[in-house]
Amino acid sequence: MRIFYIRSASILIYVVFTLQCLAQPSVSEVWVSESLLKKHVYTLASDSLQGRETGTIGQFRAAGYCLENFNKNHLQPIFQLDSVGGSFLQKYYFTPALVSFFGRMAVVAKRSELSNPPSAENSQVLFAHNVGGLLVGTDLKNEIIIISAHYDHLGKQGNLIYNGADDNASGTASVLAIAAAFDSLVQQGIKPRRSILFLLFSGEEGGLIGSQYFVAASPFAMSQILCNLNVDMVGRTDWKHRKKTNYCYLITGKSDTELKQTIEIANQQTVKLSIDYSYDSENDPSQFYYRSDHYNFAKKGIPIAFFMDGEHPDYHQPSDTADKINYNILQKRATLIFQSAWMMANPK
Ligand SMILES: [Zn+2]
Repeated sequence: MRIFYIRSASILIYVVFTLQCLAQPSVSEVWVSESLLKKHVYTLASDSLQGRETGTIGQFRAAGYCLENFNKNHLQPIFQLDSVGGSFLQKYYFTPALVSFFGRMAVVAKRSELSNPPSAENSQVLFAHNVGGLLVGTDLKNEIIIISAHYDHLGKQGNLIYNGADDNASGTASVLAIAAAFDSLVQQGIKPRRSILFLLFSGEEGGLIGSQYFVAASPFAMSQILCNLNVDMVGRTDWKHRKKTNYCYLITGKSDTELKQTIEIANQQTVKLSIDYSYDSENDPSQFYYRSDHYNFAKKGIPIAFFMDGEHPDYHQPSDTADKINYNILQKRATLIFQSAWMMANPK
């Protein structure tokens, strides 16, 4: 009888183990959903969000959409609301400055500065929000990997809406869809060892002020932040790659090679994009190293990786619309970021 029990137990263990293996997909085979990316881009770049200008109703609506998705994906709110509650929203104050034009193509931009709350002396003060949600890791949960994008854009000029589909509904959609990919694993009991912080900034177009505020008022010590993967414009292709569109520019600056190597390995094991380092220099004339939110983390000595598609004629124009996004390439780039984050979150 005893040996029968042992055999039964062995069979049971074998069956349970086999079922678990069948039920748990290999994470390296997980891709970020293309249909979800498309849904997010079309929503964020729709006319109803009026170009998502920081401090306007369009930005507030976009923040609400991002927050809803973080909540749906079971992320933890990280900003202190009061003594008992937390919030997905981080509010900050700023003063808008004059409109300026620069660059080759009459590109429009407004410069803004962080400010104290409004007072009798300064009534020009507006407010805006960053949106943040945390996936808490397991044994290394105090070490944090940030995946970020800015969700603001240029708003309206008269009747013209700057929908900002590539800049940066594409990056925002990536962060939201990557959070969904992580959540689908968590629901199957597969959790990362390190924590993942999903951050969506406003105030980028006005001078990176949303991320500047986050870094100054972070609920986490900068020493806990292992790296920042920043996504800004990942849905289009540039002239250089018009025939071979399977690429992504990567900028890491002086970041340690461990992050760079991890991204290279994740890429080879999964989407196999051609990684282009042409702009990866702090002295490059295009200055991309300084032009998105990762720069505020780099200034604090945190390793950064900036994913982007380069330049195209619709950059900062009303013609940057959702129908022009290449969703297949967007899916590959978002998957590369997801896989890189997963590898960074699970050191061997
Ligand atoms: Zn922009």
